[in-house]
Amino acid sequence: MGQYLMAFDAGTTSSRCILFDRAGKIKSVSQQEFTQYYPNPGWVEHDAGEIWDTQCFVAKEAMRKAGAFAEEIAAIGITNQRETTIVWDKKTGVPVCRAIVWQCRRTAREADELRRMGYGEMIREKTGLIVDAYFSATKLKWILDHTPGAREKARRGELLSGTVDTWLIWKLTGGRVHVTDYTNASRTMLFNIHELTWDQEILDLLDIPREMLPEVKPSGCIYGATDPALFGRPIPVAAAAGDQQSALFGQACFHEGDVKNTYGTGCFLLMNTGDKPVRSENGLLTTIACSLGEHVSYALEGSVYVAGAAIQWLRDEMHLIDSAAESETVAEQAKDTKGCYVVPAFTGLGAPYWDQYARGTIVGLTRGCGRSEIVRATLESVAYQVSDVIRAMEKDAGKPLTSLKADGGASRNNFLMQFQADIDGAPVIRPECVESTAFGAASLAALAIGWYDSTDDIAKQWKAERVFQPSMSGRERTERLGGWERAVSRAKGWAEQP
Ligand code: ADP
Repeated sequence: MGQYLMAFDAGTTSSRCILFDRAGKIKSVSQQEFTQYYPNPGWVEHDAGEIWDTQCFVAKEAMRKAGAFAEEIAAIGITNQRETTIVWDKKTGVPVCRAIVWQCRRTAREADELRRMGYGEMIREKTGLIVDAYFSATKLKWILDHTPGAREKARRGELLSGTVDTWLIWKLTGGRVHVTDYTNASRTMLFNIHELTWDQEILDLLDIPREMLPEVKPSGCIYGATDPALFGRPIPVAAAAGDQQSALFGQACFHEGDVKNTYGTGCFLLMNTGDKPVRSENGLLTTIACSLGEHVSYALEGSVYVAGAAIQWLRDEMHLIDSAAESETVAEQAKDTKGCYVVPAFTGLGAPYWDQYARGTIVGLTRGCGRSEIVRATLESVAYQVSDVIRAMEKDAGKPLTSLKADGGASRNNFLMQFQADIDGAPVIRPECVESTAFGAASLAALAIGWYDSTDDIAKQWKAERVFQPSMSGRERTERLGGWERAVSRAKGWAEQP
């Protein structure tokens, strides 16, 4: 029944496809970027047709690279950029407009208005999310409000909507299957994460016809089979999960209290909270983690806006390093930062500060601070920000962090990983397979088709490449964290109108 699992990693800037063998080893990878449209300041769009075309192209290329035929592909698992919203004609399959991307701020005013009208608490309670333009709900409303006749057509069942997973599954199955999974649904701000249904009160509030929404299913589930014309033979489509939840699964964080952090442009931290949806008192989101059966697990999520992006800033604006990787050797040339802190609050500060007026600062400079100190302080700032989110999670979950699993591009930086372990006083574990997101989707599909019996089989495949043990004294940690807190207080509110 096939030797490979095909993971579609439908990201924000590119479509990727990775073929995994039965042992969870990568057999081939293919990637293609697609166009980013910025039609107005703060607006971000994608062409859903291009997402589909590039995804098909990389799937076929990954098969060609591995020398694999369709009969050797046991199943397809999809992981995708979350929240991005697509509406298309059910009959023709043509999108009514470009996809509105998660980063797009065009509906910020609608989101403000919902909060101003006092709906924030009700929506938070039901969806686990803090009302924001980031999520799909106001994006879908915007499309219905701004496309002539769309709402009427949607009411008559002539339009379909979905996130990128839904769109890809619909295309893969030749328009026969209109579904999404719990993790993606939980990011729409339309889904009741307690009752596991689309929430009629929120749908009514936004005037969104329920008819256009996909059926919601578990993340690991055989949704259907690909149209035979696509790959020459039908292949089961057996998993879908939002990228961050897929990474949590791919990192084998199956138990309550398990935490992973993805160190990319920004950072995304997720903590598995088991059967119970934990309501955050510290500005984190409550969301659904990957599931197989109808039973779901929950997670707490917090993000850091500027992480790897601060390393790009060192390279591209400050010209202190030639490559991101060089930050490690340069940082290690300094014994410490000589008391200097960089707070890369270029676009404000997220959890737990929530200060959109915060701006970047460098504080504590003395005459001896040079290039290596600034580079070191910038890398440390990534770890401090992650640590702030971890402490918020610890407070909400009522238990301390036992270890942190790391992935993403910047997790390759050994200095950063060691400093993270030191500042948290807990081990940081980097896996052999840093493609956690794609591996999560492949693992979910493997479980759905019966390749594996349980998550224990995945846990066995997950291997640590390196464990960074904390070696900083408690006193030093407290001192450093105190310094960071004071540095953050200097960055807060900077851009506020006097
Ligand atoms: P994304 O998926 O957000 O595009 P990636 O996981 O590909 O991000 O990681 C890329 C980010 O990681 C970039 O911001 C880059 O500056 C940073 N990065 C990559 N390698 C290193 C490294 N060795 N040390 C520090 N940062 C790095």
